[in-house]
Amino acid sequence: MKAIVLREHGGIDKLLMEQDFPEPSLGEHDVLVRVRATTVNRIDLVVRAGYPGIKIPFPRIPGADIAGEIDEVGSRVKAFRKGERVLAWPLIACGACEQCQKNRRWLCLNWKYFGLHVDGSYAEYTRVPEESLVRLPEKISFEAAATLPVAGLTSYHALVTVGKLEKGETVLIWGGSGGLGTFAVQIAKRLGARVIATVGKESKRERIESLGADLVLNHYKENVLDTIQKFTDGKGVEVVLDSIGAETFPASFQLLKKGGRLLLCGLMTGREAPLNLHLTYLKHLSFLGLYLGEKHELEALLNWVSEGKIKPVIDQRFELSEAGMAHQRIESGDQLGKIVLLP
Ligand SMILES: [Zn+2]
Repeated sequence: MKAIVLREHGGIDKLLMEQDFPEPSLGEHDVLVRVRATTVNRIDLVVRAGYPGIKIPFPRIPGADIAGEIDEVGSRVKAFRKGERVLAWPLIACGACEQCQKNRRWLCLNWKYFGLHVDGSYAEYTRVPEESLVRLPEKISFEAAATLPVAGLTSYHALVTVGKLEKGETVLIWGGSGGLGTFAVQIAKRLGARVIATVGKESKRERIESLGADLVLNHYKENVLDTIQKFTDGKGVEVVLDSIGAETFPASFQLLKKGGRLLLCGLMTGREAPLNLHLTYLKHLSFLGLYLGEKHELEALLNWVSEGKIKPVIDQRFELSEAGMAHQRIESGDQLGKIVLLP
């Protein structure tokens, strides 16, 4: 089958387009999915370039967003049939560890993440255990669906489940124009919050406003602290969603109200940040780390998309053979929304 294969870490030249990569063989509870669309996530760039502490077994097919049709089912698969349209929850859980036993399968101690621990979606076909699949309604296109498992799910899990964002609260979303951010702005608005989002390019401001943001700031040109203090009458915000990391941490910290929640779901600017312990307890702050979410949350988000309440924002589409260009597009910071790859 055709696949983008990594055989070592490095630049985009390491994303090798291979024509005859062996098709995955199926276990009895597995399903072979013909991938119709996938998207590029930051984790794909990490898998490609390498990252301290993360060991990738090669060869590896990257990609965690799997939307497609079932081509074949294992001998004991019960819930799915050949030809059905499906979307994959991006994780495989063991079902046996203490987290799985407590129904917290996304925290599985033996977790496998598509494109990282097992082969992923940058291919014609991929193998998914029946347990990780959800059915895809006819009205949702493969490309729209492919935006959901990583970026959409993480936003949903952060704001709905972990952050418990409430109507009337104010939320600050750092990086409102990326894959995660474009979902977060819409989800926060849907929850009835007042939404502040930052962008790094002036040209993105209008589009993010159109998604429902009440205030859009350019984090390179404007003084974020001053502007948000003014916008909130000096009160600050209840919730901050931060996937940027060390650089944004001091401002997030200062802007949080008493009882505020900081939702941390990524780091692009360093692993460590200083923390004022004194103010942390005096302000009764919660720092909540998270990634992805549970399968039922993906299904809930799928329902919102199906009802037209959340609209995935697609930046550009690339053929599978152009995966390197798609990675470059993310690295450039020019994208607005999700970048789709079509195997
Ligand atoms: Zn487990």
